[in-house]
Amino acid sequence: MTSTNSTRLTVLATGGTIAGIAGSAIAKDYRAGEIGIDDYLEKVGGLGLGAELSGRQIANIDSADMGPGVWNPLHAAIAEAMADDGCRGIIVTHGTDTLEETAFLLDLTLAADKPVVVVGAMRPADAVGYDGLRNFANAVRVASDPDAAGRGVLVVMGDRVFAARDVRKVRTRGTEAFRGFPRESIGLVTPASLEWFGAPWRQGRAAAFRWTTDLPEVVIVYAHAGLDAASVRRQIGDATRGIVVAGLGEGNMPEAVRTALVEQARNGVAVVRASRTDEGLVDREPEDRDNGFIAARALNPQKARVLLQLLLADGISDPAAIQQKFDRR
Ligand code: ASP
Repeated sequence: MTSTNSTRLTVLATGGTIAGIAGSAIAKDYRAGEIGIDDYLEKVGGLGLGAELSGRQIANIDSADMGPGVWNPLHAAIAEAMADDGCRGIIVTHGTDTLEETAFLLDLTLAADKPVVVVGAMRPADAVGYDGLRNFANAVRVASDPDAAGRGVLVVMGDRVFAARDVRKVRTRGTEAFRGFPRESIGLVTPASLEWFGAPWRQGRAAAFRWTTDLPEVVIVYAHAGLDAASVRRQIGDATRGIVVAGLGEGNMPEAVRTALVEQARNGVAVVRASRTDEGLVDREPEDRDNGFIAARALNPQKARVLLQLLLADGISDPAAIQQKFDRR
């Protein structure tokens, strides 16, 4: 579990397939979040990773159930590790399904003083070809690198390092399940090497947003052919403060839906146009000003939702002010 090397890293475990068990090397079905952090560190102890790892179990869940209940203790534990002079970097193990949301939320709310690396796996720990050991060893390599600090929260999957802002899960199977947009990966990593070739998104090391336990309700409306205003209205409740449209193409939607959402915007609900396409850049269109809409730029709907929640929690609700933050973080 430990080595004689002085690099001390904190590992915060939340579950996912990286801690999953199938009960057989070739089974298809498995349970995510089964192995505890102590057993996991025992498992990686034989790899000779050259870092002293201390672990803490924050949760042990399938990341489909990730949300404020786990984010709160996770954020607090990372902040504690950041303040610990002996700790050089932090690794968060996480299910891959919502990894991009957690990584982006942490990126927006943490100082960038020490490396924070989020890592997962696509195959359970007892499967043939388990990718979790490789990904974890790569994460140790990245979290141990002083040059990783200042880059914001990083995601390590499939021998690549991604910035939290860019990364997303693009495949349901296979070990190359993550890609970056608008930038691809910003580093290549193996357990023995690390090469950076992308500049950080982050400017400065201070957190962009204060942490809050009270994230306002923001719903995602998924646009499709035949979507009508009535079904959109059914998604919106009294507590809804924001709506992100996973729009058609460059943030488009049926006319009746647009009319319904203009009405919401006039009532003070923040409406963000994102894209349901995989690599969707949504720029402002001339009508956005009159409609009171905001363009998500390169953020996908689930990440646009995270940013909008933080802005609303910070009391920023004017569409022009929100747009500025989507234009520049
Ligand atoms: N369902 C799993 C999770 O997100 C998938 C994974 O980790 O790969 O927890």
